[in-house]
Amino acid sequence: MKDLKERLAAKGVHTLIAQFTDLHGVARGKFVPLAHLDDLLTEGVGFSGPSIAGSGLPRCGPRSEYWGRGAASTATALPWLPGYGRIACDGFVAGEPFDACPRQVLRRQVARLTAKGWHLRTGIEPEFFLLKQQAGRWLPADDTDRLDKPSYDLKSLPRQRAFLQALQQALEACGLDVLQIDHEDAHGQYELNFGFDEVLASADHLMLFKMAGHALAEADGKVFSMMPKPFANQPGSGMHMHISLWNGLVHDRHGNSRNLFVPHRPDGALDDSTPLSPLGRQFAAGVLAHSRALCALAAPTVNSYKRLTVGESISGTTWAPAYIAHGANNRTALLRTLHGRFEWRLPDASANPYLASAAMIAAGLDGIERQLELPAAVDDDLFALSLFEVHQRGIGLLPQSLAEALEALAGDAVITGALGETLTHQFIALKSAEHTAHARHVSDWELQRYAAMF
Ligand code: GLU
Ligand code: MG
Repeated sequence: MKDLKERLAAKGVHTLIAQFTDLHGVARGKFVPLAHLDDLLTEGVGFSGPSIAGSGLPRCGPRSEYWGRGAASTATALPWLPGYGRIACDGFVAGEPFDACPRQVLRRQVARLTAKGWHLRTGIEPEFFLLKQQAGRWLPADDTDRLDKPSYDLKSLPRQRAFLQALQQALEACGLDVLQIDHEDAHGQYELNFGFDEVLASADHLMLFKMAGHALAEADGKVFSMMPKPFANQPGSGMHMHISLWNGLVHDRHGNSRNLFVPHRPDGALDDSTPLSPLGRQFAAGVLAHSRALCALAAPTVNSYKRLTVGESISGTTWAPAYIAHGANNRTALLRTLHGRFEWRLPDASANPYLASAAMIAAGLDGIERQLELPAAVDDDLFALSLFEVHQRGIGLLPQSLAEALEALAGDAVITGALGETLTHQFIALKSAEHTAHARHVSDWELQRYAAMF
């Protein structure tokens, strides 16, 4: 503790942000002077429980207090906020790990893996928009970002270099290995990739990325947006996860850990005829089998379902999954399998990374426990098939609305079991209210279509 305090002080940190993540995946917290680091790491700092979205905590009594206890390994100075550092917190209530804290939910699933000697690694690929508001309309921040096919646009990308470079440097200073940054498929849309890590660390990194993104875009006069689909006629923002399972930690000192998803032949040689080992296939089969319920966590807003559709875009396609299928290096499928890992293309930018990851692990472990078989791989372009052909092949569809996803979640004991009773109840209540509010809203589209029609 003394070491940590000295290390932070040496970086000029005088105040810590005790940060936790609410049900919506939004960073929350308070400032705690560095002098109180010890309290933050032992007892934690107190918050009014019922003020936190999704806590379900009562307004009075011993369970009304939510304690955010700092995880020392996450402590880092924040270059975009000189003098401040961030510590990701775990929720505690009445001295016990709080069952509905998203970080605790993920910890519970990590513990199930650890009990088997397994460690799951995720590489998260956030896509995001840089926006501005003009006369009440939301627009891409860059007016000149207007190419017909904006993917990899090298005219718009450098125009955002002030923000992108600041983001890159900030994340690097926090210890993240920034791998690449590109212009994505929509006007004003970008993607930044950083190195994979243990699933819990990756979720912490994603929250740090969002905090940096918001602060640095604001400083640059722009709005950083993780909204899944801001523009109806353009692709949305995914938050794909690359998933592999290992028998050791990323930072294993001996470097002996082995990727258990890499397939081998009976003689021990690498098997390059198939992407995944039997264990990997079972895990992936579990993730596919629970896809409809997983949608509620991975695509948790009403807006998410405007992304998860098959549709043309100005660049040809939206690249967002719609069908419950997998295929070797097939970006039109929900799971894109690669050698020794798979890319889970379901999550969008609004997903709470802790909850989406926890639910994905529960689904994968269920696949292993039930020794599920992965359905036949799809090698074709799924977006080119008609709905009739998709049905004929026995390929399932993802929910088409938040309400449908919530119904699937409510009926899936494996995923609700992973979330726990309180969080399941809170999640379904809050998200059903979101669906109802959206359904009752009379949109411009409706007025344009119906006002003078009948
Ligand atoms: N934007 C797409 C999505 O919503 C993904 C594009 C890509 O594959 O990078 O999933
Ligand atoms: Mg992308």
